[in-house]
Amino acid sequence: MFGDNGVLQELVAMSQELGRPEHQYVILGEGNTSARVDGGSFWVKASGYSLAGIEPGGFVRLSFQPLLEALERPALSDDDVSRVLQEATLEPEGLRPSVESFLHAVALAEGEACFVAHTHPTAVNRVLCSIRARELVQGRLFPDEVVSCGCASLYLEYEDPGFALARQFRQGLAAYRQENGVSPKVVLIENHGLIALGSTVREVLATTAMAVKAFEILWGAAVLGGPRYLPEQEVKRINSRLDEHYRRGLLHAR
Ligand SMILES: [Zn+2]
Repeated sequence: MFGDNGVLQELVAMSQELGRPEHQYVILGEGNTSARVDGGSFWVKASGYSLAGIEPGGFVRLSFQPLLEALERPALSDDDVSRVLQEATLEPEGLRPSVESFLHAVALAEGEACFVAHTHPTAVNRVLCSIRARELVQGRLFPDEVVSCGCASLYLEYEDPGFALARQFRQGLAAYRQENGVSPKVVLIENHGLIALGSTVREVLATTAMAVKAFEILWGAAVLGGPRYLPEQEVKRINSRLDEHYRRGLLHAR
């Protein structure tokens, strides 16, 4: 293998943790993860593998360029998508990259992320599959949610998983960055699931865990008459407060 095995080992450990059944983030072959190797390539989960117990042999290394170039086109047939994925594959041969490889390429190349985790947590999808999903996720509920999940999540309306979803994500990411000056740490996909973006494995795991906790609380708050969100200025203050930055540093350094 000519890839960076340090990054791959970290990705394997992150994926195994996300796949632990007690978290209820994913079952069977659900979810996919990725890690940037360098400016030109990244590792992504191969199709058909479970995150639980996955080994290095369950990942494929892809080149960014063919995927990002394909996303400039308005639509691709399923055959074209397969051809582009094959063209982008650096190693090993014979494995089919995840259908969400396009989405991972965007998150890693344009979303300031080094590690990305896409999961389908029960607690998150309980809300994202409801008719009140969009309205319910419009605020932050408690200080530690702001610390681990940022000021606001990027919300994406339902789109066909794979190429179409990646195109929609790319547009949403650009709009979010324009509005907020940074990339989101949490992306919510209607009727589908969660994406956590981070610069380290620890950050991605913390963001996923905190987002899931926030959704558990949101569900309860919705049942008990409706969530009371933190005031917007409080969210901004926490996000920029020095000691919270310090805590964030500690959280990620551990
Ligand atoms: Zn998914």
